[in-house]
Amino acid sequence: MTTYKAPLRDYRFVLEELFDGAALARLPGYEEATADTIRAVLEEGARLCEEVLFPLNRPGDEEGCAYENGVVRTPKGFKEAYRTFCAGGWTALACDPAYGGQGLPHTVNFCLEEMISSTNLSFGMYPGLSHGAYRALLLHGSDEQKQRYLPRLVDGSWSGTMCLTEPHCGTDLGLIRTRAEPAEGAYKISGTKIFISAGEHDLTENILHLVLARLPDAPAGTRGISLFLVPKFLPGADGGIGARNGVRCGSIEHKMGIKASATCVMNFDEATGFLVGKPHGGMRAMFSMMNSARLGVALQGLGLGETAYQSARAYAAERLQGRSLSGPKAKDKPADPLIVHPDIRRMLLIMKAQNEAARALAAWIGIHIDIAEKHPDPAEREAAEDLVALMTPILKSQFTDGGFAVANLGVQIMGGHGYIREQGMEQLVRDARITQIYEGANGIQALDLVGRKLPMHNGRLLRRFFHPAERFIAAHKDDPALQEFVLPFAKAFGKLQQATVLVAQRGMRDPEEAGAAASDYLRLFALTAFAFMWARMATVSLPKLGGDEAWFYKGKLATARFFMNRMLPETSSLLTIISAGAKPLMALEAEAF
Ligand SMILES: Cc1cc2nc3c(=O)[nH]c(=O)nc-3n(C[C@H](O)[C@H](O)[C@H](O)COP(=O)(O)OP(=O)(O)OC[C@H]3O[C@@H](n4cnc5c(N)ncnc54)[C@H](O)[C@@H]3O)c2cc1C
Repeated sequence: MTTYKAPLRDYRFVLEELFDGAALARLPGYEEATADTIRAVLEEGARLCEEVLFPLNRPGDEEGCAYENGVVRTPKGFKEAYRTFCAGGWTALACDPAYGGQGLPHTVNFCLEEMISSTNLSFGMYPGLSHGAYRALLLHGSDEQKQRYLPRLVDGSWSGTMCLTEPHCGTDLGLIRTRAEPAEGAYKISGTKIFISAGEHDLTENILHLVLARLPDAPAGTRGISLFLVPKFLPGADGGIGARNGVRCGSIEHKMGIKASATCVMNFDEATGFLVGKPHGGMRAMFSMMNSARLGVALQGLGLGETAYQSARAYAAERLQGRSLSGPKAKDKPADPLIVHPDIRRMLLIMKAQNEAARALAAWIGIHIDIAEKHPDPAEREAAEDLVALMTPILKSQFTDGGFAVANLGVQIMGGHGYIREQGMEQLVRDARITQIYEGANGIQALDLVGRKLPMHNGRLLRRFFHPAERFIAAHKDDPALQEFVLPFAKAFGKLQQATVLVAQRGMRDPEEAGAAASDYLRLFALTAFAFMWARMATVSLPKLGGDEAWFYKGKLATARFFMNRMLPETSSLLTIISAGAKPLMALEAEAF
């Protein structure tokens, strides 16, 4: 069976020891986010995830959602769990107090999102999509729209969706055909959207669809897309539920994973919609929703990876098979537990190293999101925003590719028992697979990194990572106790710099060179960022080996050594692959495939 306990000790490590989480409470508006408050909130969140959401995960996968005549039923127990979730104020955690939110830092919400994804990713899709809609309206809605809709999204009584994809267009949103005709101070929206998560369900009394559509005079491509708010029920005179709008769910998808998350075909038939932001400004508005959603998906990968690791670790400690190569360890038993075998340890350590580096990186970026939003100094805000923008595609890809790989290793560690449904591990693999695809497939994240983020402001974004990395290396490279961590990191960082120059120079001459290098470059960047995190974690852990929790810091150091010696060397082959250029990819004629 899968097993899960929230990694509260690791949250304390990253928020209180590795980074200065206490600095959050010094940001205007976050005064109440002290270390004690954050601990208490995370402990409470852990309880909810472990006791309410986790027990519904496997039954939810077995039952899935049901569709009948436009009505969608979520699996048994989801409605009650959602009520508990809202009553606990979890939908309001990182929302603006002006609309009923609790005003806690995004960093705290990151931890919550990870725990929700660990325990029930399908359930998490419903409040997750609502939070995306909340952010789009908060940043781009009119005052009237904010007053009318945000309190409902914040208290969870209404939910939200993101309606981008159409049957003929997913990645290339410039092809969108859904139309918006001006009508009596609003718009009539017509068209079909597919794959819409939480498009229809029975958890909330109303659903607010944020829909990309074209106005009649729209220019072609993404420059001609506008964003509209299309409520399932139009708001009544008292602000509550009014008339039923012309948007209906035509069917739900039957899919590989996240079966308890309703993935809907949505038909808009002259539905009343309200423009959000400026005409033709839809992509900009949608991007603010997508950027936070991309980080949310990154945390989904991490969350699933954590459950896979904990479950595989428990299994490897109990399952008796074979004897240790260095002689029996459990002499009173017929065989040793799996964990004695080097190959099982290899897999467990990859899982642990991936998850803990990702958690550290998530905390680093989460803190910068809070700085970008709240810091009084505009220069600090700009620097933080740059780092977040640079790292968003890296987190999205690395955490979700990693989450899938980690879940897959979990199956391998459990052998045949991992493959059968009853144990729950195969569900994690199926659930993790979509995280690599939605919110911009991972190949598209790599293009975003190479094509947009690297050249932006003449490389200014890149320097937000390069400069702290250089400072860290300069400060610690001569410390003999730290060299085993800092030197491999410095070497990988050198390769990243080399690859950056290569990609920039070749990409300038020929964009296909940049496209061909993108995914490998992103992976090289991600491994270097993980090395940065592991080197920093080692620096914090080394002086604490003599204390009460020596076991914890020993674990950090051993995992840091594993990462530096057995995972980071992949950067060498990535640099070789990047250096090979586009030719080996592009030489084959399309007909010859
Ligand atoms: C379970 C589920 C939930 C979803 N939820 C939502 C939702 O709530 N709202 C919503 O609007 N959509 C949603 N989607 C849609 C999802 O975001 C898209 O499936 C995704 O963006 C990819 O689009 P596509 O499937 O049309 O693939 P395509 O765009 O056809 O791409 C296919 C492959 O080609 C690659 N590719 C495409 N263009 C390029 C290029 N220029 N260069 C290099 N590679 C390229 C892609 O990376 C991908 O690997 C969901 C999908 C699923 C399956």
